[in-house]
Amino acid sequence: MDELPTCPGCHIAIRPTDYFCFNCGKNLHVVPPGTTPVDQIKLYAGSILLAPMGIFWGLKYLRENDDKAKIVGVIAMILSGVTFIIATQYTVAFINSLNSQVGQQLQGIEGF
Ligand SMILES: [Zn+2]
Repeated sequence: MDELPTCPGCHIAIRPTDYFCFNCGKNLHVVPPGTTPVDQIKLYAGSILLAPMGIFWGLKYLRENDDKAKIVGVIAMILSGVTFIIATQYTVAFINSLNSQVGQQLQGIEGF
């Protein structure tokens, strides 16, 4: 089941014990973004709670060669994007209602 590890930079076969790729010199001990269920839950939750950040995290996953990581990245970006748009609309609606309330109160004061 386990394939030989390959360099994420040049895709040449490497030994798991190598610290740097002998072909392109890439650092091989950078931890790839995880795709376990726990990693995904953390990523999705973070994408919603810290909305625009999920787009950057998603991009990190899209750079992986793993199809599963790409799907996880796309989901995180969609979640984050949709949440950000909704949050922006709520904020705009809130400011608008605040503005109209303040306007009404000012009119009330002027009415005296
Ligand atoms: Zn390499």
